[in-house]
Amino acid sequence: MIKKYDLIIVGGGIMASSLAYNLRKDGYTGSIVVFEKDRMYEYSSTPRCYGGFRQTFSIPGNIQMSKLSLQVLKNFEKEMALDDEPAVIDFKQHGYLYLANEQALSLLKENMKVQKSYDVNVQLLTPEETKSLVPELNVDDLAGAVFDVEGGNADPYSVLQWYVRHAKRLGVEYVYEKVQALLTDGLHQVKGVKLETGAEYHAPIVVNAAGAWSGEISKTMGVDIPVRPYRKQVYCVDLAVPFKTDIPFVFDYLGTYFQGEGLKVIIGSREGSNETEQQDYSFNFDFTLDRSYFNEEVWPLLAERSPNFDQLKLETGWAGLYEYNYIDHNAIIGKHPDMNGYYLLTGFSGHGFQQAPAAGKALSELIRLGKYETIDLTPFSITRFAENQLLLESEVY
Ligand SMILES: Cc1cc2nc3c(=O)[nH]c(=O)nc-3n(C[C@H](O)[C@H](O)[C@H](O)COP(=O)(O)OP(=O)(O)OC[C@H]3O[C@@H](n4cnc5c(N)ncnc54)[C@H](O)[C@@H]3O)c2cc1C
Repeated sequence: MIKKYDLIIVGGGIMASSLAYNLRKDGYTGSIVVFEKDRMYEYSSTPRCYGGFRQTFSIPGNIQMSKLSLQVLKNFEKEMALDDEPAVIDFKQHGYLYLANEQALSLLKENMKVQKSYDVNVQLLTPEETKSLVPELNVDDLAGAVFDVEGGNADPYSVLQWYVRHAKRLGVEYVYEKVQALLTDGLHQVKGVKLETGAEYHAPIVVNAAGAWSGEISKTMGVDIPVRPYRKQVYCVDLAVPFKTDIPFVFDYLGTYFQGEGLKVIIGSREGSNETEQQDYSFNFDFTLDRSYFNEEVWPLLAERSPNFDQLKLETGWAGLYEYNYIDHNAIIGKHPDMNGYYLLTGFSGHGFQQAPAAGKALSELIRLGKYETIDLTPFSITRFAENQLLLESEVY
């Protein structure tokens, strides 16, 4: 059985759904089908993500994507309302605070010049000013901090669901089946996909938005892309002594990050022994929480930063996967140069939630018009690896 469509998207997460929605919204009239293997999104990255957004990057393209996405998220509740139901996404702007020693601060200051040239509201703080923003912090070791005033959090699962609802309403079909292989004509033209059920769907355009699984699925048609799964953990703790205010999203140069209100704090760590990058595409992942890693590696760093972390209870937490571009840790967006009709929307390496609104919009333009209009994402093309034009972003964690 072969079904024909104009455009196929593999993966039904936030990237795929932002793209599908933007295509339709901007007037694409061809038929679109999205394949999602995990109907409840149990292991997908989007619902396992923090939902943090910030504009403090070092590369213009990342800043531009985050700026555009912020505008979308800011207006989401109103713009994406359906049948008078507001599109609630728990949008909060409590800021992003980067705590730095001398070495970290000099890099952050360099990046601030680029950020300010794009009108990002970013401030340099002395240790004393940092302490007055969050009085519970120990600032003795700090040379200063950088505050991204407009940064914050939203609920990624809600954003995803609103995109899905809109896309479906605009006629995009979602099929909850696993794509087993991408198909080609045997030469250099993508042909469609084969499902695990054996069914084939053909289309002249196939977009790989399969997140952490995108490297694995691309390999089925012999096209290697540098994206692998990378396991990351999130810890949710209750504090015996709460922070007095809704603290910003704090990035500590010591290696942790945390955000929360009162007793409840969410914590992550930048790296560590069990935050493992997979060396192949296999998926024998353990999605449960490694509590001993928190106790031994993360908690001591937190306690160094604030006495409020001295007494805490690790309530819960989870592991999820980054769709990790292991070469330069940035998105891979656009046409594949060696396979006609094959487009990539992957590799966001830990900042995909906040870039999905912009990336989906930009790729929809490239597909519909053959060029970018709103923001130029040409530097994010996969051709950069062969051309040695890597995107060396210093603010990815
Ligand atoms: C712990 C953690 C914290 C994070 N924090 C942040 C943050 O604060 N800010 C931020 O911007 N980003 C963050 N991220 C990153 C963010 O979650 C991802 O970049 C983003 O969700 C990627 O979206 P996606 O649609 O590409 O992936 P996904 O949501 O994983 O969607 C891809 C989908 O493809 C489906 N799929 C895969 N293979 C197939 C197949 N063969 N057939 C059919 N379907 C298939 C999967 O089931 C999946 O649902 C975090 C990630 C993690 C894990």
